Amino acid sequence: MASAEQVNLLRELPAVDEVLRQYQIEELLQFNPRSEVVEAIRNVLDVTREEIISGAKHSVDVEELVNDVVERVKQSARPNLRPVINASGVILHTNLGRALLSERACRAVEEVSKGYCNLEINLTTGKRGSRYSAVEDLLTKLTGAEDALVVNNNASAVLLALGALASGKEVIVSRGQLVEIGGSFRIPEVMEQSGASLVDVGATNKTYPKDYERAITQETALLLNVHTSNYRIVGFTRETTVEELVHLGQQYNLPVMSDLGSGFLVDLAPYGLPKEPTVQETVKAGADVVTFSGDKLLGGPQAGIIVGKKHFIEKMKKNPLTRAVRIDKFTVASLEATLRAYLDTDKVLQEIPTLRMLTDSLEVLNEKAGQLAEIITDKINDLAEVTAEEGLSQVGGGAMPTAHLPTGIVRIAPKNITVEELVTRLRLGEPSVVGRVQEGSLILDVRTLQNNDTEPLVQALIQSLKL
Ligand SMILES: *Cc1c(COP(=O)(O)O)cnc(C)c1O
Repeated sequence: MASAEQVNLLRELPAVDEVLRQYQIEELLQFNPRSEVVEAIRNVLDVTREEIISGAKHSVDVEELVNDVVERVKQSARPNLRPVINASGVILHTNLGRALLSERACRAVEEVSKGYCNLEINLTTGKRGSRYSAVEDLLTKLTGAEDALVVNNNASAVLLALGALASGKEVIVSRGQLVEIGGSFRIPEVMEQSGASLVDVGATNKTYPKDYERAITQETALLLNVHTSNYRIVGFTRETTVEELVHLGQQYNLPVMSDLGSGFLVDLAPYGLPKEPTVQETVKAGADVVTFSGDKLLGGPQAGIIVGKKHFIEKMKKNPLTRAVRIDKFTVASLEATLRAYLDTDKVLQEIPTLRMLTDSLEVLNEKAGQLAEIITDKINDLAEVTAEEGLSQVGGGAMPTAHLPTGIVRIAPKNITVEELVTRLRLGEPSVVGRVQEGSLILDVRTLQNNDTEPLVQALIQSLKL
């Protein structure tokens, strides 16, 4: 039984129409669908009614109801996919969308999104053209390969290449290279999907050319090398090189494929990063087919790039699977723009965000961290202890697992809330911020902060540190 007070309170609850006439709601209606606003009003009224009945509420305040409605509508109107400030220091963060596109690539995507483009028309002849032609010449020029093809991602590139080269036949691969990439991409399973059967040879830590040679039979169609991009076998090790596989392949008339994972077009060893095989080196070593990702170290859009000998690539182009994993115009546009940056070896490290973040000097990063710590200290009064320090960033994206890049960090130890609470608030905030937790402090790594991040980051921190 409801008490007299409760009955009165329930009577005081405004009707939906009445709430709709409040000026804040009228404002809300200018930018939000009426149905969404009405739904939010109903929900807020329902919740309030229940609170009154359960005895949790002892007054009805229309202004409070209206504020709740505004908050609800704003929350549900926030895009589900939204920008995140990456202060984790992980450059290729798979969960945060991997590579950032260059300005030039973003412009290219915008142009082909707003208007029509010559995706599949040859403007010289007026006849039908190929969507791959915009990037084919650039890829062959940059890698030294005879031909190129681009598909949706590198997982599909590997699937397509294995299917074209070895379906119904055997593929020989080193036991130390049966990699699993995040999200259940495993070489043995991809092999099965492609219709090829896997013959693994050697030991986990050592595989010699003679191990491959002993496994060659009438059924062998391909010698496969997989770059162990996300792990390293160290110590007493021996891997067979692509050159050695090519030499063996020539003796037995077998093609060689190399899945590089991350597609390096520039050697970053001079910048203190681990030596990784570039695509050019692998092509030069004689690999018939080379596959790599567009959005790992290349720093472009999600894509799987296949370069190699013409007759193999032609065969893949005719495979119906190619149509199923084809790229869209946004990928063509952004990949072309990304590849064009590589034509200028002097400027590419600055133009491609991934390369820029990889090669930023410790001096610059420390200075950035010092400045950020100062701004934060200035704004947050006594809500946290803030210091600029040196730390380590990671490459991420399953690339260069052993590389630890010295960086500048800002350490924030909150005084009034726990660090876990701070991390949660930052993640849910506007904008969302992702950092790292270390020894009870929040770590903001400046390496992965972009030019316009400082202001919104500081705002988000102020909001989150308040009790
Ligand atoms: C990352 C990776 C893949 C998968 O590439 P995606 O572009 O993520 O599909 C395949 N092989 C290797 C060796 C990789 O490192």
